[in-house]
This record gives sequence, structure tokens and C-alpha cells, in this order.
Amino acid sequence: MKRLGQSRLPPLLMAAIMGLGTLGSAGAVLGHLRMTQLEAEAQALDKERAQASNLRRHLLQAENGLNAYVLLGQTDGLRHFQLAFAEIESPPGQASLERLRAFAGPGAPDLLVATLRDAAEALRRPGGAPAWPLRDEAATVPARAQHAIEDYVEDRRHRQQAEMARLRPLQDGVLALVLGSSVLAGLGIAIAWVLVLRAVARARRQEDALAARSEELSALLRMNQALQAAQTRADVQRVVADTAAQLMAGVPGSLYLKPGETPDWLERAVSWEGSPEGPVLLDALHCWGAANGSGIGCEGVGCHGDTLCVPVAAGGELFGMLRFALPAAQPPGPATQLQRRTAEALADGAALALANITLREKLHAEALRDSLTGLYNRRFLQEVTPTLLRQLERRGADLCVALLDIDHFKQVNDRLGHAVGDAVLRRAAGVLTAGLRRGDICCRHGGEEFLLLLPDCDIGGAYERLDELRRRLSVQHEGLPVITASFGVAELPRGSHGLEQTIRDADEALYAAKQGGRNRVVSAALLNRLRAGGVAP
Ligand code: GH3
Ligand code: MG
Ligand code: MG
Repeated sequence: MKRLGQSRLPPLLMAAIMGLGTLGSAGAVLGHLRMTQLEAEAQALDKERAQASNLRRHLLQAENGLNAYVLLGQTDGLRHFQLAFAEIESPPGQASLERLRAFAGPGAPDLLVATLRDAAEALRRPGGAPAWPLRDEAATVPARAQHAIEDYVEDRRHRQQAEMARLRPLQDGVLALVLGSSVLAGLGIAIAWVLVLRAVARARRQEDALAARSEELSALLRMNQALQAAQTRADVQRVVADTAAQLMAGVPGSLYLKPGETPDWLERAVSWEGSPEGPVLLDALHCWGAANGSGIGCEGVGCHGDTLCVPVAAGGELFGMLRFALPAAQPPGPATQLQRRTAEALADGAALALANITLREKLHAEALRDSLTGLYNRRFLQEVTPTLLRQLERRGADLCVALLDIDHFKQVNDRLGHAVGDAVLRRAAGVLTAGLRRGDICCRHGGEEFLLLLPDCDIGGAYERLDELRRRLSVQHEGLPVITASFGVAELPRGSHGLEQTIRDADEALYAAKQGGRNRVVSAALLNRLRAGGVAP
């Protein structure tokens, strides 16, 4: 909701709304007050006019009644006169008389009323008759009063109209202000509403994106934890396939891996989300180059514009390639940022795991092999012996153990140098490996001494094969001095659970071979027979 706070109505619009609104309101209040005042004045005027007209009517009625009674002898006239005179004498009549003085001049109404009062007084006396008709001055009072009233009313009306005319522009202005400020306020509310809706929608989008991102991150975290625990390439394939299917649902993909050390091609190892997509093999060098350039839409065999390829590489070493076939519904062209980021995170995780596994394998291999000759070492012997013995026992097979030691090797070092000595050791290892059968094991036992395990071979057969090896070792090898070696061999007794005693027997036989003049094979069995017969070996 941060953006909502930042979105403000334009300040000018706000100022205009407030200014116009205030002006309009003030104008409307003033106009209303003035109009109310004018209306009150008009009402008062109408009332005055009505009062004056009533009085004039009563005066006329009184005069006419008196005329009819005095001049024509009509008794009704007297009644009309008395009724009208009673009205004139009543408090409202007197109040009207006050107003009439203002219209018709102070003297005239009083004169008329005084004349009428005299006539009334005369009529009340028995046999009395009023002095009638009226004098001219009094007779014209009703007419003059009427005219005065009309003039007064007309004048007030004119003044009111003039004032109304003056107020009209103000009224129109006030109306315009009110309308203007209402329109602006409406506009402001509409803009504010749109801004609020947009801010809410934006906040929702951000919330959704955040939720998706956090889901993606936790899936990637889980993947990295699983990859760290991965022991084999199969583990890596499984974890990558599961995570890719979860994070890029509906997008078919494959993980290609480099089979062994060869740098030339990548093999499809695992696929997810639908049937395997893409070629079985990829040109590693081409993909590596293409992916390093753009990462997208390389033109390799079987690749097309909607393919997202990300190299699985760490420390400059390519282990494989992640390849996604983007959905047909997606507009052609580069993958979305999210797809690309996810694919890269998957590839990074897989690459690290594969680098670890490769390193582990390498270290393991190095730990089990002698670095000079490439032969297995003593540690390998210790690791492999229990399994080997179990297998041989199950099959009821024989095993012979031989130890061989190069004769006078110290002299080689002393005469020709250590490097030549090393070369002799490597050559000896090569001759031995080449002369062994599948299933035989050759270890460097230490220094210039080698140990051979010959399964499925009795002591007689072992003797012959070792003697053949002895002959092969003693021939001239290009650029190297001629060497010889002495061999001691012993057979593993049935039911043995360890090699230690047999190795000791072979060692004794080797010692006997050295004692016997070197460059020969001596078997422990023969040695024992000779000893048993009391013959020196
Ligand atoms: P013998 O016939 O009685 O076996 O005599 P030998 O000289 O072969 O035996 P000795 O034990 O006196 O000498 C073995 C020599 O092998 C001593 C050591 O310097 C050398 N040696 C051991 N390991 C290596 C190696 O890795 N490289 C080289 N160049 N020499 C080695
Ligand atoms: Mg030795
Ligand atoms: Mg030696």
C-alpha cells in the first residue's frame, strides 16, 4: 500500500476544488440571506398594501352607506356605514390608519375619519342628522390614499426588481461556483477512486508475485538441500526433475549429462512433464558456446526458437545442459524472466552437486590408487578384501597371493637417478597389468614391491603364470635398464577370513627367493615341504 500513499491528486486541482467550494458556499449563504430578507420585505409590503386597501374599502363603504342613508333615505345605507365605521375604529383599522397617514399625507385621512365620526355622532343623537355630503377635501381621501398606496407599492416593487437584477449575476456566479466545485470534486473523487483501485490492484499483484517468489525460493532451497545430500548422479537427476516439474509446471524439459570424461557430447539423462523432448544427444561444444552467448534458442540439432537451454556448469567445467521446450501458447521469442531465472537456479544447483560428486569420485579414486603407477594401493586392498573373500568362498574358488620385489632396485636409483627408477616402476606396473587376467588384482605394496591377487587359480597355475610374468619383466625395455624381480606366492587356505597370514607366507617365500639368488619364483607350499623335509630352501 506504499504506492497508495505516494499517489496524490494534483495539488492544483485540490486547491481549485477547495477555493471554489469555499467561495461558492459563502456566496450561497449570503445570497440565501439576502433573498430571505427580500422575501420578508415583499411579504410586509403586501400586508401593508392589503391593510391600506381594506381601510380605503371601509372608508368608501362608510361614505357610500352614509350617502345612501342621508341622500336617498335607505336604512341599509346606515347599517353599512355603521359596520364600515366599526372596522375603521377597531385596533386593526387604527393601525391601517397609521399607514394611510404615511401614504396619503398626515391631514387627509384624519379629516375623513373626523367627518365620519361627526356623522356617526350626529346619527346617534335622536333626530340628529349629519352635516352631509362630505367636504371636497375629505371626499378625495380614499382616492388619494389609493393612489399613494399604488405609488408606494410600485416604487418598492421597482426597487426590489432592481435589487433582484443586481443579485442575479451574483446568483448565477454562485451557481457556477457551486457547479464548478461540484464537478471538480466529482472529478477529484473519480481520480482518487481510480488511483485507489490501481494501488490496490498493484498491491495485490505484488503480493501474488511475492507469494510465488517465496514458493519458488523455498522449492529451490529444498532442492539445494536435497542436492547437497545427493550421493550419485541418479540422485541429482531425480531432484532436478522433481523441482523443475514443480517450478515450471507444464513445461517439458530434459537434463543432459556428459557421459564420463569425453567432452564431445551430452546424453539425455532424465526428462519430465510429458514424453522426452528433444534429441537423445546434444553437441556439447555447440551447446556450450550457444548457451554462453545467449542461453536461449540455440540452433543446435533438434533445437528451435522456443527452446530454453541453460548450461549446467561450475568452475568453468561443463557437466551438462538443462533444456526446456517452451509451451506453444507462449509468444515466440525469449523465455520470460521468471522461466529463465528458475532454469538458471536449477542449473546452478545441479552443477554444484555434480561438481561435488565428481570431486568426491576423484578423491576416492586417488585415495585408492597409487599416483606413480596408477595401480591400486594397500588401502584398496583393505577395502576390497572382505568382499572378494566372501565371493570366493561362496563359489568355492581358490585364491593365490603373490609378492614380488624388484632386485637391486637401489642400484638403479643410485646409478641412473630417481626419475629412471620411477620410470622402471611404471614400466613394471604396465607389464604386470598387461599380463594379468580379468579379475586379477595388482597393487603397489610399497617401494619397489608389488602384491598380486590371483583368484580362481591354484598354486600350480599361479606358479606358472608368475614365472611367465618374471620372464616378461626381465626383458630389455626401450630406454630402460634391464631388471629382474623375485616372487613369493602362497595359496589361501580354505575357510580363511583374512589375507594377513597368506601375505606373510608369500613374504617368506619372497625372502627365500631373494636368498636363493633372486629372479625366481618360490611358493610357500614348496618352502614348507622343504622345511618339513629338513632341506634348506
Ligand atoms: P633387493 O634386491 O634386496 O630387493 O635390493 P633392493 O636394492 O631392491 O632393495 P632395497 O630395499 O635396498 O632398496 C629399495 C629401494 O627402492 C630403496 C628406495 O629408495 C627405492 N624406492 C622405493 N620407492 C621408490 C620410488 O617410488 N621411486 C624410486 N625411484 N625409488 C624408490
Ligand atoms: Mg624391497
Ligand atoms: Mg628390491
